[in-house]
Amino acid sequence: MIVGIDAGGTLIKVAYTKKGEVHFEKYPIAEIEQVADWVNNLVDCKVCVTGGRSGVLVSLLDQPAQEMVEFEATHLGVQVLLEKAGTLEDAYLVTNVGTGTSIHCIQDNMQERLGGTGVGGGTLVGLSHLLTGVTRYDEIVELASRGSRDRLDLKVKDIYEDKEPPISGELTASNFGQNLFAISDGVTKEELLAAVIGLVGETVSTVSVQAARQCRSSTIVYIGSSFIDNPLLKEVVTSYTILRGSIPVFPDNGEFSGAMGAMTAL
Ligand code: ATP
Ligand code: MG
Repeated sequence: MIVGIDAGGTLIKVAYTKKGEVHFEKYPIAEIEQVADWVNNLVDCKVCVTGGRSGVLVSLLDQPAQEMVEFEATHLGVQVLLEKAGTLEDAYLVTNVGTGTSIHCIQDNMQERLGGTGVGGGTLVGLSHLLTGVTRYDEIVELASRGSRDRLDLKVKDIYEDKEPPISGELTASNFGQNLFAISDGVTKEELLAAVIGLVGETVSTVSVQAARQCRSSTIVYIGSSFIDNPLLKEVVTSYTILRGSIPVFPDNGEFSGAMGAMTAL
């Protein structure tokens, strides 16, 4: 059996082949010892690990494991996933919305990190919890999908009252920028969570679209577990990316890119 593991800041992603088929699993980082036990109990296996917590995982393994730099593993994994989907292009950007967000340009079969932002999936969960007390990721995204950002976010057209704005009036001028002191009836959890996802999605896509200027392509491949069962984040990122002239792509199993790349390297 060959196993690729991406141990990130929040989640451990595992890709492995069994009877010729690729399987994917994910675990919270708190279960790193259980993942190591699972690997240690496998008979006749090769393992390659990547991600920020790969050192911790390697220290828990009984057998030597190959290690791979996260960005190289992700690049390779994205390539494999896009090839499978028949959508591989010569050049594209990869935006990995993990705990934090990292942006890469892939061209001439090389990846270069263009930058990133600390606004990512960790922000989504952390800010959501601080604002609403909700802790579970699935509950956050479910509540958010039923909320509206209209009372919290200030749009360009709200500022340009009775005047044609020089840019699209639909763009957000200020996330959480409405006159919140004036909202007399309480803001709901659904509204707050939708606005947090709006903030994360717009930040991630704005930075990505700007980074695209340094890359030959305007196709942006969005990956990372922050998009799992999160149609609202996908929707915000899609509309903002298109509005700013780039093309968003969300490959199936994109969150397993690092694990897939590590597995493929074996
Ligand atoms: P990094 O790459 O920054 O080290 P990571 O690889 O652990 O972190 P991902 O697994 O890509 O990051 O994404 C983590 C994010 O995915 C979380 O911050 C959260 O927003 C979201 N997420 C999706 N499913 C879950 C889950 N079951 N539990 C917690 N967070 C989840
Ligand atoms: Mg990661």
